[in-house]
Amino acid sequence: MSFRSLEWLRLRLLAMVVLLLLVGFGATNLISYTNAVRTLKETILHHELPLTGSNIYSEIQADLIRPVFIASLMANDTFLKDWLLGGEKDPAQVTRYLDAIRAKYGVFTSFLVSDATHRYYHFNGGERHVRPESPEDIWYFRVRDLTKPYEINIDYDQSSNDTVTIFVNHRVLGYDGRFLGVTGVGLSIDSVQRIVARYRTEFHRNVFFVTRTGEVTVTSADGPRQGSTIATLPGLSDVAARILGTHEGQFEYRRDGETILLDTRFIPELGWYVVVEQRQSDAIQPLWRGFLTNLWIGFGIILATAAVIAWAVSSYHRRLALLATTDKLTGLANRQGFDDAMARLARGGRRQGRPFAVLLLDIDHFKRINDTLGHLRGDEVIRAVAERTREVLRATDLVCRWGGEEFIVILRDCELADAARLAETLRSAIEEMPVRRPDDGTRVTISLGLTTWRAADTVDRLLSRVDRALYQAKRDGRNCVRLAAPARAAADVV
Ligand code: GH3
Ligand code: MG
Ligand code: MG
Repeated sequence: MSFRSLEWLRLRLLAMVVLLLLVGFGATNLISYTNAVRTLKETILHHELPLTGSNIYSEIQADLIRPVFIASLMANDTFLKDWLLGGEKDPAQVTRYLDAIRAKYGVFTSFLVSDATHRYYHFNGGERHVRPESPEDIWYFRVRDLTKPYEINIDYDQSSNDTVTIFVNHRVLGYDGRFLGVTGVGLSIDSVQRIVARYRTEFHRNVFFVTRTGEVTVTSADGPRQGSTIATLPGLSDVAARILGTHEGQFEYRRDGETILLDTRFIPELGWYVVVEQRQSDAIQPLWRGFLTNLWIGFGIILATAAVIAWAVSSYHRRLALLATTDKLTGLANRQGFDDAMARLARGGRRQGRPFAVLLLDIDHFKRINDTLGHLRGDEVIRAVAERTREVLRATDLVCRWGGEEFIVILRDCELADAARLAETLRSAIEEMPVRRPDDGTRVTISLGLTTWRAADTVDRLLSRVDRALYQAKRDGRNCVRLAAPARAAADVV
């Protein structure tokens, strides 16, 4: 396999690992995020919002305990009973009484209605009659027929600019159990409004109240407008019928492209539904931020992993390349190394016309060394020749082991005459080596063939030329240099 395709393999391996990590990491992150969102949504819808609703309900119930107690206190007060039974003389007395109750307990209003005279006494001294035909007095006749001692009613207080008021209407009975009238107190809706505002600021939840017909009565800052009807509001209208059709329920609907989670519960004391809602995105935002942070960290880790892999693979690749192009015995470049260098030079030689020469050398009568003393001694001679060749030639010349006891040398930027001089220097340098042939004690010699790169040459042609030149050197008695025949004489003939 060539190193170019190894390079390509390395890139593909890296791309595959990165892709695998990206897909794996992205998928697990996405799955855990969507799971977390689903769990959070379930928790909000089925635990948190219902809990808020029931907390509000409890708070309202707790808020109503005191006024109910005050109304019961008034209804059982012997002064009130005696005054009614005594013929309602001196109304200033009862007005004072009502005002004292209002002031002491801090309620919004206090009143008494006599069944004997149908007179309505108000703490501020106002006085009128309740009439069965008047729609705003219906409540009185309802309480008169009530079987339980009191009711809580939300109504408009006519004596106070029609403010929405929570009334506790308590029946007053005589000592013999006869119905004498209705007394009670009214609370401003402020306390409910305070609850709503608190839940808005503390929990980022909209709380609002709707009547049985779906009219919004008390609402928070960004809840639906007071007085509007949920059946006509965008988004809410989708679930309005279901809200009003149940005593307790959880819903979700979409408004302005956002999912809204909603809990509703009916408060029988008020005859209202309390609705608690929350934008899903508000709850999910921290999860989303966590998801993005995880992604960034993941990308960082993947990049670091890719860098480590790339580094490991390329250093392994470099080692491999070195091993594959190096001859083990001599440490010189091997045939693969020569091929690579030659291909580069041939391209450069063609493009730039830079001269270079190739020298092929072969140790003379080497077989005899092997035959008489064995391969190991032969190897030593090969190593000695390689070393000396390296020493004699220039640093820019590439010496390769061609195979066996043959070496091939590329002499860069070298004309034929210079190359011939170098070849001769090398030949005599080997001859002068202190190393003696282990077989017969004579000098180790080499034969050399030499040729130069010619215009329109190919690597194969160059090699066969230099091979023939070496053959010629052998034929001419060895220990000599032979040049390939000039191009013009007879092409490729030595
Ligand atoms: P000539 O002068 O004609 O070159 O004679 P020669 O005996 O050197 O002949 P030739 O070049 O054909 O012989 C090469 C021998 O080198 C044959 C082979 O046994 C031996 N040889 C090849 N590779 C190695 C090697 O790595 N180590 C050793 N010790 N011997 C090798
Ligand atoms: Mg040989
Ligand atoms: Mg030989």
